[in-house]
Order: sequence, then structure tokens, then C-alpha cells
Amino acid sequence: MPADDFAHVRAWVFDLDNTLYPPAVRLFDQIEVQMTAYVMEALKISKPEADRLRKHYWHTHGTTLAGLMREHEIDPLPFLENVHDISFDGLSPDADLAACIDTLPGRKIVYTNGCAPYAERVLAARGLSGKFDAIYGIEHADFQPKPDHAAFERIFARDGLEPEKGAMFEDDPRNLTVPHTMGMRTVHVAAARADGGHIHHHTDDLTDFLSRLTG
Ligand SMILES: [Mg+2]
Repeated sequence: MPADDFAHVRAWVFDLDNTLYPPAVRLFDQIEVQMTAYVMEALKISKPEADRLRKHYWHTHGTTLAGLMREHEIDPLPFLENVHDISFDGLSPDADLAACIDTLPGRKIVYTNGCAPYAERVLAARGLSGKFDAIYGIEHADFQPKPDHAAFERIFARDGLEPEKGAMFEDDPRNLTVPHTMGMRTVHVAAARADGGHIHHHTDDLTDFLSRLTG
């Protein structure tokens, strides 16, 4: 493990969904159900059409919300509140991950395409409350989502984060492209490897990866 690769890192940026909890929890399945229902209601369309649009927006705009805002001028706040109104019963506290995060030197932040209140609830269910110096949601990026360059610029400027001293942990490889361009260390957290020169490291076990960085 090239711990040396991270010796200069003083800002640790973590995505939330499927990064700070295992994808097997499938929290996003619940959110997708909520999103489809919201799209059906907002645009007065059928379920198959709403599902199709959701996937189209995700590919074209990065998130469903970004597509809804850009193509239909949907108000983001009621959308975010509604789609994140889900059960957190599948999440359990992770003391090992919490301990690893504690040992990282410098600033630790969460940056999600969801909203910050949702992130707080997820972190609470994972036993990770209070482990991070800041939690940023899409509302802090003027509702521009990762992977947009402007979204990262906005969040990092707001935090005072120096990308050359930063590391980004993400399950969606698309969201590592801009961090790589900005000079961050990039870590893809997922079961399967993704291709791309913008990914410095891959792990299917975030806790194990972090423990090997800090000894
Ligand atoms: Mg994610």
C-alpha cells in the first residue's frame, strides 16, 4: 500500500452514498423509488416514462435533480426533502471506520450530491456523527451536482480546501475526474474496478484502505 502517496494529504473528502456505507445496504433503491414517484407527480407522466427520464437525467446531467431543474425548472428543496424521506434501518454503526477516520491527519469532510440534512442522518446511523469538520450537500453547490467542475470548485472554495493537499473517496468513477484534474489523490471505493487514468487507487473496503494509510 503506497501510504507515501498520501503523506502530503491534509484534506480528506468523502462521498456519502455507497462510499461511507456498503452498497449492499441499497439505500439508493429507496431513494430511486421516491424519485420516480416525484417525477411522475411533478411532470404528470407514467412510471415507465419517469424511470426512463430519471436514467436519462443521470447520464446527461449527473443527477435526476439536475435534469429536473435544467429541463423543467423544478424547485430543488421540496424534491430533496421528499426523496430523502426513507428508512435508515439497514444502516448500522461502524466503530472501525469511525476509528480510522479519527486517525486521519487534517480536515475531513463529506461531500454528497444529496442534501446535508440527509447526510447527517446517514452519518448518525453509521455512528459517524461528529467525525467530520464539514458536511456539504448539493445545496452548498448552488444545486450543481458532481461531476460538474463548477460544483467541486464551489465546494472546495467554500471550505478553503487546497486540492493539491486533498484526497477524494468516491464510488462513482465519474466524480473522480475533476478531483484528479485539480491535483487530488483519487480513490475509487467499489466492488468492481473502473478504468481510467483519473483513478489513482481502488479499494472494495474503505476501512481497510484507511487503516493501511495511517498504520
Ligand atoms: Mg456515492
